[in-house]
Amino acid sequence: MANKDNSGNGFTTTILHSDRRSSVEHGAIHKPLHPSSEYAFSDARELAAVFQGKKGFTYARQGTPTTAALEDKITKMEGGAGTVTFATGMAALTAVFFTLLRKGDHLITSQFIFGNTNSLLTTLAGLGVEVTLVDATDGENVKAAWRPETRMVFVETIANPGTQIADLRAIGQWCKEKNLVYVVDGTLSTPWLCRGIDVHASLVVNSLSKHLGGHGHALGGAVTSTGLYDWTGYEAIAEPYRKGSPYDWGLTHIKKKGLRDMGGTLSADSAHRIAVGSETLALRLAKECSNAMRLAQYLDAHPKVAKVHYPGLAGHPQHKLADELFQHRFGALLGVELVDNIDVFEFLNRLRVLILATHLGDTRTLVLPVAHTIYYEMGPERRAVMGIADSLLRVSVGIEDIEDLIEDFRQALEG
Ligand SMILES: *Cc1c(COP(=O)(O)O)cnc(C)c1O
Repeated sequence: MANKDNSGNGFTTTILHSDRRSSVEHGAIHKPLHPSSEYAFSDARELAAVFQGKKGFTYARQGTPTTAALEDKITKMEGGAGTVTFATGMAALTAVFFTLLRKGDHLITSQFIFGNTNSLLTTLAGLGVEVTLVDATDGENVKAAWRPETRMVFVETIANPGTQIADLRAIGQWCKEKNLVYVVDGTLSTPWLCRGIDVHASLVVNSLSKHLGGHGHALGGAVTSTGLYDWTGYEAIAEPYRKGSPYDWGLTHIKKKGLRDMGGTLSADSAHRIAVGSETLALRLAKECSNAMRLAQYLDAHPKVAKVHYPGLAGHPQHKLADELFQHRFGALLGVELVDNIDVFEFLNRLRVLILATHLGDTRTLVLPVAHTIYYEMGPERRAVMGIADSLLRVSVGIEDIEDLIEDFRQALEG
């Protein structure tokens, strides 16, 4: 996609030249790693100024030049106003929910969300935040859940693992009318398929551990502000951060309360790995989307497969919505249900190329029986509400040669 930053360059050019254009030390092509925990000042007034809001570095819990360079790249990818990085995607989500919602506030969210996020929201509910789960594939269900205490709407672009697509634009338009904070977890689509700003999100959360880093060797998370939300009337924003443009207050508050106070900081080492990985995001995801489509078509036609959940298939309930939102690309995640008379564990043990592992958005194809693993704790009733069958496999499609992936499925299904 030809997302343009203000240099006029496209998505990949912008990422590749981001460090160089913000004057890297000694002309290095990559922003160097800055492992220092503390930052020294030769002028006491300068030290005080940085503590009082001037751009700069004081203590690495609140960021380093290495995390700042990555934040700059993510902001450019999202076409946003600013980004704060965290140790993991969950740390980023924790920062958003726990700093922006207070006892008595109401959150509307999708019933199709990542299991760990669902678990996090139960903790939030235990502290007195009201949480309503709705089927967010239809914006009307979100609207119907509104109450005077509603402060925030949270959805995922493509739900993991069911691949339901939230009615992103309609929800964004309604949140704008109602002046609600609209938070979109874009982990499965990445800004290459869909930018939060284009669906009128206020904040976008990305797990950098997945496609953004892409190689399964670094954890990270990010919150990006699109700059669309005016925080003036948002009561949870602490007094010291009600300064400067009210469109920036939310991110400042998240950075201070969520990063400085809660301390889920991204290490310089991980930030560097993720930044290097992000250079090939568009290349990797293009290949992963095309592999996923081929695999979905193959499996959909296979007699031993009961159902394939993939937004690229015409039979997917949100196929048209996904086609519009993601401009004819449908992501790298498949849900595959096998027919009843196949033993799921035996099938999995026959695979030779696909890796049995949790995680997604890797260059390698990973497969997981979800009801027995990540959704085990939830129990059969909640799984039924979320549409998770016992035989459901989550397949995160990588960049391998497609013939090898198809052959591996063929031999394991027929074996
Ligand atoms: C993995 C994931 C997260 C959490 O990210 P981590 O970096 O693993 O903490 C959040 N949201 C979605 C949709 C995810 O897939």
